[in-house]
Amino acid sequence: MPEVQAGDLAHDREAFMREALVEAQRAWDLGEVPVGAVVVKDGVVIARGFNQPIAGHDPTAHAEIVALRAAAQALGNYRLPGCELYVTLEPCVMCSGAMMHARVAKVVYGARDPKTGAAGSVVDLYASAQLNHHTQAVGGVLDEECGKLLKAFFASRRAASRAARAEREKEQDQEQELG
Ligand SMILES: [Zn+2]
Repeated sequence: MPEVQAGDLAHDREAFMREALVEAQRAWDLGEVPVGAVVVKDGVVIARGFNQPIAGHDPTAHAEIVALRAAAQALGNYRLPGCELYVTLEPCVMCSGAMMHARVAKVVYGARDPKTGAAGSVVDLYASAQLNHHTQAVGGVLDEECGKLLKAFFASRRAASRAARAEREKEQDQEQELG
């Protein structure tokens, strides 16, 4: 096997995170909060997922869960040993639990999530020896890009709701003028 250099590893991680960012963009295109994930085995992307709880009326349809389900189907196995999951945002408690049940070897995430992050931001499930023997967490890969995408999404949503409000007010004014 060729020797893997530290620089190569960082390069690979960024390349897989870019794949996860492509998935995040798909979520945005459907009006969902842009978070994307890919599952990698032996250096190959075997499954993809993006956040889609609104469209599917499914509170569990986070990017990681969608990608885990696809990976398990692809491998024909409910456990995913030796797999790495790349996700643009620090996973929540639900997704971290699912990844531990699936025995994912490693989760690599981009931006931190100070509100629901379960890899150290709010709680650190990965550090709990009673809970977790299988899954390692690594953060901060392309964190700026991943975070920027989320910030831009929320900014555009705020701008859209301001524009809608202004439009409504204009219509009300016109109605009043018409008496
Ligand atoms: Zn989640």
